[in-house]
Parts: sequence; C-alpha cells; structure tokens
Amino acid sequence: MSKPKVFLTQLIQDTGMSLLEGHVDYTLWSIDGKPDPEAVLRDIPLAEGLIMTMGIRMDRDFFQKAAKLKVASLYSVGYDNVDIKAATEFGIMVTNTPGVLTDATADTAMMLMLMSARKARENERIMREGGWTHWSPNQFVGKDLSSSVLGIVGFGEIGRAVAKRALAFGMKILYTGRTRKAEYEEKLCAEYVTLEALLERSDFVSLNCALTKETAGLIAERELRMMKKDAVLINTARGAVVDQKALFRACSEGWICGAGLDVYEKEPVPMDEPLLKLENVVMMPHIGSAAVRSREGMARLAAVNLIEALEGRIPPNLVNPEVLKRI
Ligand code: NAP
Repeated sequence: MSKPKVFLTQLIQDTGMSLLEGHVDYTLWSIDGKPDPEAVLRDIPLAEGLIMTMGIRMDRDFFQKAAKLKVASLYSVGYDNVDIKAATEFGIMVTNTPGVLTDATADTAMMLMLMSARKARENERIMREGGWTHWSPNQFVGKDLSSSVLGIVGFGEIGRAVAKRALAFGMKILYTGRTRKAEYEEKLCAEYVTLEALLERSDFVSLNCALTKETAGLIAERELRMMKKDAVLINTARGAVVDQKALFRACSEGWICGAGLDVYEKEPVPMDEPLLKLENVVMMPHIGSAAVRSREGMARLAAVNLIEALEGRIPPNLVNPEVLKRI
C-alpha cells in the first residue's frame, strides 16, 4: 500500500524523523537547511501532510492550492502564521506542539530579564575593552529582581511558567489577559489587573500572549509611555505584539530603561534594524524553544500529530477541532 505523501520545510530532530519512517513517504523542502518557498509552491498540490517549521505563511491561497492536504502539523506552539478559519473550511487539520517548550521559553524570558536588569551587554563590553580598572561601589550597578514587580501579559502555559520562576526570585507578580485565571492566583501569588495598571505598576513587563488580531500592536507608544521610566520590556511572545518603531524610540529616548527581545516584527532581523544599535536592548535570535529536550519534544509531537491525523485518528494537539465536523 502506498504511504501518504508528506513534505517537511526542514529536517527535524531524530525523535520525530524516526517516527515518520514506515508511516509516510516524506520529502524535505529545504536547501542548505533553509526552507525553499519555491519548492513549497511547486509541490503543495501533492501534499497529504505537512510538517511546518517557522517562516512560511499559510493563508487561504495556500490552502486552496493544497487540494490533497489533510493535516498541517506545526513545529511550534504559536499558530499566528496560519489562517485557521480557511484551513477549517478546507477540511484541513492544524496541530501544534504545546507544553514541551514551556520551560525553555520561560527560561529565555528570565535570561533576558536578568541580562537587562544587570546590564550584561554593557558590563561585558566595558570589561572586554579594559574598563574594569578597580572595584567600585557605583560601577556596573543594575536593578534588583528581588522585590521588583513583574507584570505578565498573557497568563497561559509560558506566562505561568515565568511567574513560577519569578516567584523563586522574590518578585511580586501582576498579570493581565483576556481571561482571569483565579485558579492560579494563590499558588503563584499573582494579582489580576488591567493592562493599564500592569504597565504603570511593573518594573519588568513580560509579554507571553498569543499573537492574534487583538494582541497585534498591543504595546505601542501609548502603552510604552505608561510604563515606569526605569522599567524593562521583555518579549518572548511574537514580535508583532509590539510596535517596534515605538519601542526603538522608547529605549533610545528614555521612556523606559530598556528591553529584552527574542522575537521581532521581521525575522531574521535585517542588519539595518535600528534596535541593533542600542546597548540597553538585549536581542536573541528567536531561541525561546532552542534547548535540546524542548526541540526533541517538539519534533516528537509534530510527528505524532501528523501520523495520527493521516491514519484517521484525532491528533492530540488539534488547534481547530471544529474541522472534525467537516471530514
Ligand atoms: P497558551 O498557553 O495558549 O497561552 C497563550 C495566552 O495568550 C493565553 O493565556 C491567552 O489567553 C492569551 N491571550 C490570547 N489573546 C489575548 C489577548 N487578547 N490579550 C491578552 N492575552 C491573550 O500558549 P503558550 O504556550 O503560553 O505560548 C504563548 C505564546 O508564546 C505562543 O502563542 C507563541 O507565540 C509564543 N512562543 C514563543 C516562543 C519563542 O521561541 N520565543 C516559544 C514558544 C511560544 P486565554 O487564557 O484567555 O486563552
């Protein structure tokens, strides 16, 4: 019996590739490790299943061309690059990889927070340039995490994992989101507030919401001006949650103290991006989930979701369950 035809944008970890063996007939859509958009356009009518890493937008036009497609298995928890309504209309299952990358992404938020608080970039540069000539009570001094207020925007899996870590650092936790999560408040000593109150009261603001129509541009000039002048903005969610031009002004004109970023409006970040010039902005190349066990978990889940869907079972991480009424 012939196996279902599957395409992958990039090679994923063996934990996923080995599961595919025997179940599907797969082809890689990449050249030198980079996804090849031309191959995607050429082959999409043949695909019954997809494993999609980052970077390719799946809109109505994409799904219209994918006549045989049953499942688009995402190698990510975020699915803001997918038109879920269109996928559902075309009877295509969309799956993601929640949970397995929660801790690694929360660790990344803490790393950005610590690096920003303790001026890691500036202090390291000064030391490498020979500026550490004597110990001084006032040189290299940053901000304390302990007793600072952390405001978390989006109290989902990652937002709560950040809260858990911040609690261990002695921080006071505020959160906001579209739904109050009273069941976690006592355990995480977290107080539910409006976005405005959170921005006004927080020393650190961590963005952990999904990117949706409602959260696109959520943090723009008005919101940045509401933050404390010595506050730091951390973004491990999605770049488009923040107006990046406004953030540049905020960090260069002193509306806020600085930022720690893992995600950007445009990725990879172009070398003429003005934020690259600012020393009070710590920038990482979208490494939230880039830890061995997390990536192995993502590969495994992406493969399991794909195989379950192609073999007629309900995949464990179905993003659009309403599609089941259409297939
Ligand atoms: P999750 O558990 O689904 O949490 C997403 C949270 O966003 C939910 O609490 C949701 O609220 C909230 N939200 C949705 N719309 C909102 C709005 N209008 N205002 C405020 N909050 C809103 O997902 P997760 O695993 O924590 O992941 C969160 C996001 O992190 C992902 O969507 C992804 O974009 C990003 N991420 C980035 C990396 C990275 O490498 N930097 C890695 C993993 C994930 P409800 O509780 O009401 O649904």
